[in-house]
Amino acid sequence: MVYFLNDEETFVEAASKSSASYVMVTIYGKKVAIAWPDEEAPRLSRGGSCLSIRRPYALSSRDFKAEDTVVRVGDVEIGPRGLTVAAGPCSVEDEEELVELGASLKRMGADMLRGGAFKPRTSPYSFLGMGENALRALQRVRDELGLPVVSEVLDAGSLPLYKNVDMLQVGTRNAQNFPLLQALGDFNKPVLLKRGMSNTVEEWLAASEYVLSRGNGNVVLCERGIRAPGSSTRFSLDVGGIPKVRRLSHLPICADPSHSAGERDLVEPLTLAAVAAGAQMLLIEVHPHPESALSDGDQQITPDAFGSLLSKARALWQLVTRVEVRERDELESRVRNPVRKDEGGGGRGDASLPFILGGKEGVDRAGRAQGRGAGPIAGAPSVALPSSRRRESKEREGSHVDAEVAFKRGLHQAGLDHSLWRRDGKRCCRLRISDLHEGHKACGGANNASGCR
Ligand code: PEP
Ligand code: MN
Repeated sequence: MVYFLNDEETFVEAASKSSASYVMVTIYGKKVAIAWPDEEAPRLSRGGSCLSIRRPYALSSRDFKAEDTVVRVGDVEIGPRGLTVAAGPCSVEDEEELVELGASLKRMGADMLRGGAFKPRTSPYSFLGMGENALRALQRVRDELGLPVVSEVLDAGSLPLYKNVDMLQVGTRNAQNFPLLQALGDFNKPVLLKRGMSNTVEEWLAASEYVLSRGNGNVVLCERGIRAPGSSTRFSLDVGGIPKVRRLSHLPICADPSHSAGERDLVEPLTLAAVAAGAQMLLIEVHPHPESALSDGDQQITPDAFGSLLSKARALWQLVTRVEVRERDELESRVRNPVRKDEGGGGRGDASLPFILGGKEGVDRAGRAQGRGAGPIAGAPSVALPSSRRRESKEREGSHVDAEVAFKRGLHQAGLDHSLWRRDGKRCCRLRISDLHEGHKACGGANNASGCR
């Protein structure tokens, strides 16, 4: 039972007279009390309104928080507005090699560098990681390349070593190490929580609750494959678990196709399956010479293979997100509405797609600032994102601001990829979301009324 407190004193007084246990937590800007068992609810509810969640998890559920959570790791966002990619070696093996790899991964579009420092190996005689030296190497990448870093922590006692690590990974073997999860709740850095290899979705969400119930809401769930009898891969990536988790929980979801695959040729297809299923982040093992890697050599891919995988994954994400966005009535009705030149004063730039969608969102300003005049748009105008204040207030209203931003990003990308929209200065093109690509094909990018409705 979760109580939204409006009178803390009354709640505490009622709780002290009952046999209920409770914890107070401030999370996502709300102060709540979680009390159990549910049977005690009537006695306690005088101190606030309450929400009965008869499940082993509450704070991670959509009943508690309907809108998607965005976890921020440095300047990187993980959530519905983009596909975030962390890549790097299973284990850090050499500082110079790591810096070089980090630079090429960054060039290819990775958002974060992953690298194992303390490795949980099945046999104690396997390579157990470079420990603190690896953490120092990661810190160098972070300082020199500005890439946030993610690394696995094995036990609560080592947490002080991780002060320069931006996101802490909990591996599958520790997914139900409850004291570690509680310590991470107190440590208050973003957590990448892998699914225990034999855990149900419910157990996984309950594990996240150990972090959330200490006030740390920055948890990303990571599907890394589960043990399944007769599986053809090292672990079975539970593709269906991805949309299921998104339905049950507001927390962002990451997929780790590397550990599910166990062999490098399967990493790309599993990545694409995960993105199609709704993964918002990817964790991919990349090594400059996988064949000589000291751990997980069979599944690590080369930087070149990563570059190719990443461009396919991003293209697929655009497509999937476009489909998601298409379902949002509010946005669709906005796009269907005609926007005439005289409504925005855009002049020759009016025919550009971002202007048409722009309305009062600021996109029109960005659009107009770019290349007036006829001819293809050389570089699409940048997409203005809503200010955080505006976003917060829209989120409070329960609006679809995330979808809106994702959609605009998609358009932005389409403009860049295809030089899709011309500004001919003559016609104002109206476009429906469903016409985004079809219209392009029909008009060949010429942006006339017959091609684009
Ligand atoms: C890893 O990420 O290198 C790792 C050990 O992962 P998992 O806990 O999923 O096996
Ligand atoms: Mn590994």
